[in-house]
Amino acid sequence: MGFLKNLFNGTPAKPEKRYFVFKVKCNRCGEIIEGRLDLDNDLSLEYEGDRAVYFVRKGLMGSSRCFQQIEVELKFTSSRELIEQQAQGGKVVEND
Ligand SMILES: [Zn+2]
Repeated sequence: MGFLKNLFNGTPAKPEKRYFVFKVKCNRCGEIIEGRLDLDNDLSLEYEGDRAVYFVRKGLMGSSRCFQQIEVELKFTSSRELIEQQAQGGKVVEND
């Protein structure tokens, strides 16, 4: 059973580092909607001049009562640090 034991005691992945959580406020109803990015899979590499950045566009929708579609665009450095974020149809809520 040593094999199984090693599996469970091995270095765990750190999922909280893999996901980037952000919030937007809907322009129409004011609802705060939380979105989550998978930093390993959602980002696409783009070049701004000779600088490489990671870019992602995410569509969010709140509760069923409001059909406002909010489109969020986020940009990260190659080390996954947020450079800028903007939303259409809503407003980005800054994390404290
Ligand atoms: Zn709304």
